[in-house]
Formats: sequence, structure tokens, C-alpha cells
Amino acid sequence: MPAKERLQEIRQEITTCQLCQLARERINAVPGEGPSRVDIMFIGEAPGFHENRQGKPFVGQAGQFLDELLQAAGVERDQVFITNVVKCRPPNNRDPLPEELRACQRYLDEQIELLDPQVIVTLGRISMAKFVTDGRISAIHGRTHNVDGRKVVTMYHPAAALHQPALRQTLIEDFARLKRFISTRTTPQPEPEPVVLPPVLEVTPSEIAPVNIKHEEKAIPSNSEEQKPPEQLSLF
Ligand code: URA
Repeated sequence: MPAKERLQEIRQEITTCQLCQLARERINAVPGEGPSRVDIMFIGEAPGFHENRQGKPFVGQAGQFLDELLQAAGVERDQVFITNVVKCRPPNNRDPLPEELRACQRYLDEQIELLDPQVIVTLGRISMAKFVTDGRISAIHGRTHNVDGRKVVTMYHPAAALHQPALRQTLIEDFARLKRFISTRTTPQPEPEPVVLPPVLEVTPSEIAPVNIKHEEKAIPSNSEEQKPPEQLSLF
């Protein structure tokens, strides 16, 4: 089945999914949006208040800042795929529970497989933990990692800057790295050493942190004490 059709099927499956308790309280599931062929995929944590209402990812305050960041980086929102690790809103924007992450994993995994993006940008520590388990976001934000032959760029969550204004500039600078990546996409780069790098990796070896590929349950962050911010708070 063509990727576009299967992606559409997955969208339907998500909207009627009953695999975890989040299905009970949702208004809308949020499968994600974007074309079926993309170079870049953005993965956030979970829908918030506005996303739950509209069924679209990143349409609240954090989404507005994401739009600014994309624009500043020269990335068109409608040319990338944006989704979350968890497709339904956790109550009071709490962290997704391990069983919720597990239940939803199949959807994101298949979306990644079908979209096959060159670059995955993780937004916040929960999304990051799916790909990179041995670093703190405060230490490795903005870095590019090589995971399964794909580049994974670990960013702070845009909502982090809403609660900690000093991170605003950090996010802008980290997103500027994407711009550099995009501008070099069309220009073939010499293959860097060492050999562990994929054929068209533009990052320098010093930027590459050691990673664990595709964490299992143990890598899923435990649910911390519930907080009740207007947007997801514990994202950074
Ligand atoms: N925060 C997220 O992680 N995802 C959204 O879609 C909105 C806010």
C-alpha cells in the first residue's frame, strides 16, 4: 500500500484508538499533520488543551512559538510533518505515563517508517528519550545525533521558553542549526569521518553524542509529580 494511503489509515486508527485510558477524556485525538513525503519530522510530547479541541498539533501558545522558530529557521510548516509521541491529551497536561507511551508507540513508529524523514527533530525531553537516552536536554539541546542512519536533532520544547524566557534565545539559536542543515541539503557535502556516519551527514564528529537507538520501556521517563501549567511545563 502506498505510504500516503497507509498514513491516512493510521490517522483513522488513531482517531478511534482505545488502547489506553487517554481515549476516555479526549475531545480529539491528534494524529499529526504534514505531507506524506518530508525531509523533516518534528515530534513533540502530547497534545495540550487547544490541540485536543482542534485535533491538530501545536496550535496553542507553544505552537505559535514553534511557528516563529520554523519561520526564523526558514522551514515551511506545511512542508514538514509535525506529531507527538502520544496522540491524546493527558489530563492537566501531565507527563504521559509509561503505559500510554507504550500504547501509542506503534503509531509513531509506523509514521516514522512511512515518512522516512532525513531528519527528526525532537521537541522536549520525552520525545528525545525515544531516541537518545544518555544525555540531559540541558546538555545536548541543539545537537545532532546519528540514530539508525537518520539525523535526530534534540531541541528544547518550545513551551520551555514560555516558562523560562532565557531559553527563548537558546531555542532560536538551536533552530538556526536546522537552517544550516537545510541550506546544505541541496549541496552535496564531503563524506565526513569516522565511518560510523551515514553518507550525507553534515554534522561534524564533535557534534555527535553517543546514543542508544530506540529505547525500550526502561528509557521512558517516569511520571513526575503532576503540575498544572497552562501549557506543558516539564518539558525541558
Ligand atoms: N505540546 C506538545 O508537545 N505537542 C503539541 O501538539 C502541543 C503542545
